[in-house]
Amino acid sequence: MNADPLELQKFSELAHRWWDPTSEFRPLHEINPLRLEWINARAPLAGKQVIDIGCGGGILSESMARKGATVTGIDLGEKALKVADLHSLESGVQVRYKLIAAEEMAAQEASQYDVVTCMEMLEHVPDPAAIVRAAAALVKPGGHVFFSTLNRNPKSYLFAVIGAEYILRMLPKGTHDYEKFITPSELSQFIRSAGLEVQGFKGMGYNPLTKIYSLNDDTSVNYLVAARRPLEA
Ligand code: SAH
Repeated sequence: MNADPLELQKFSELAHRWWDPTSEFRPLHEINPLRLEWINARAPLAGKQVIDIGCGGGILSESMARKGATVTGIDLGEKALKVADLHSLESGVQVRYKLIAAEEMAAQEASQYDVVTCMEMLEHVPDPAAIVRAAAALVKPGGHVFFSTLNRNPKSYLFAVIGAEYILRMLPKGTHDYEKFITPSELSQFIRSAGLEVQGFKGMGYNPLTKIYSLNDDTSVNYLVAARRPLEA
């Protein structure tokens, strides 16, 4: 199984606070409108079949469903999925949540999705390339795949680990393991090896003074990548 039990446990312990915008999940709440609009601009979500890999409590999944997509959210964290289901009942925004590995889902529902998203998850799995291959298998020919993760360099160590976990205390200590961060060139390699085309990168920045996140062209710490499955794959 391509999953680290300790990683799943970390998220499980916090899961009940997933939808509290002042909790450990605050950064996900704050970046969500930015990534949602970025995705929706590249692949208008209304009427689309979407799968969100590593959906957690469903912050992105629900927001994509609100845009009119039919969304499936998958994760291996049981508690996060329960929270996601409860929130969906409460909000009335329908999402199909499933406890299943991305690779298994890919075997069951190959080429079924217009859009595949996998955000802030690759840096928590033992074999991220296998997740990228699963995403490539799930998407239809011509469909879109979006990933986000953390770059690996001295600056990202300073900002994403020391800054966010130790100085600003935005995230619990130990949330991120520097060794598992992925450079844009490594991720590009995974994407191309999986038969997808890289469409473009976007950086995500945080200003600790204004406490505002923004999208920019600096991919040195947090970044997103858009990929596409060629029509003739
Ligand atoms: N994608 C969501 C949540 C990110 S938190 C968002 O951006 O809002 C990371 C999530 O990855 C957690 O929900 C955790 O349970 C999940 N995760 C970690 N390892 C996983 C694995 N191997 N398979 C599926 N999900 C995993």
